[in-house]
Amino acid sequence: MIRYALKCEKDHSFDMWFADSGTYDTLAGRSLVSCPDCGSTDVRKAIMAPGISSAKKSETPTLSPRAMAEAIRKVRAHVMRETTDMGRDFPDEALRMHEGDVEARPIRGEATPDEVKSLIDEGVPILPVPPEPPKEN
Ligand SMILES: [Zn+2]
Repeated sequence: MIRYALKCEKDHSFDMWFADSGTYDTLAGRSLVSCPDCGSTDVRKAIMAPGISSAKKSETPTLSPRAMAEAIRKVRAHVMRETTDMGRDFPDEALRMHEGDVEARPIRGEATPDEVKSLIDEGVPILPVPPEPPKEN
């Protein structure tokens, strides 16, 4: 399961759970993801990443697609620079860190939806890294 922070065209923020990122894309593509406040299906993923506070700039205007892509690239670059890639060991290592078996440090890696779900069930704080935005033409 992946929790996405979402925002509608009227700037209502809400969270929703999806089986995986593909499920979100499919549902959103068919306008099946709607805002609980106003029912709008013009919904976008908000950025979720360590070090990025959406509360920091409450006056932030709506980002253009270009600015959004740029922001996502910066987040990705930051995550790649500041974390150690554990690859498929990520779920085990994250759990060991959570339980204090190894020293906590910033890591990234891969996890299946089931592994993500069990980590969240264990109370391990994890966040999805935003996918690389498409290149502009
Ligand atoms: Zn709304």
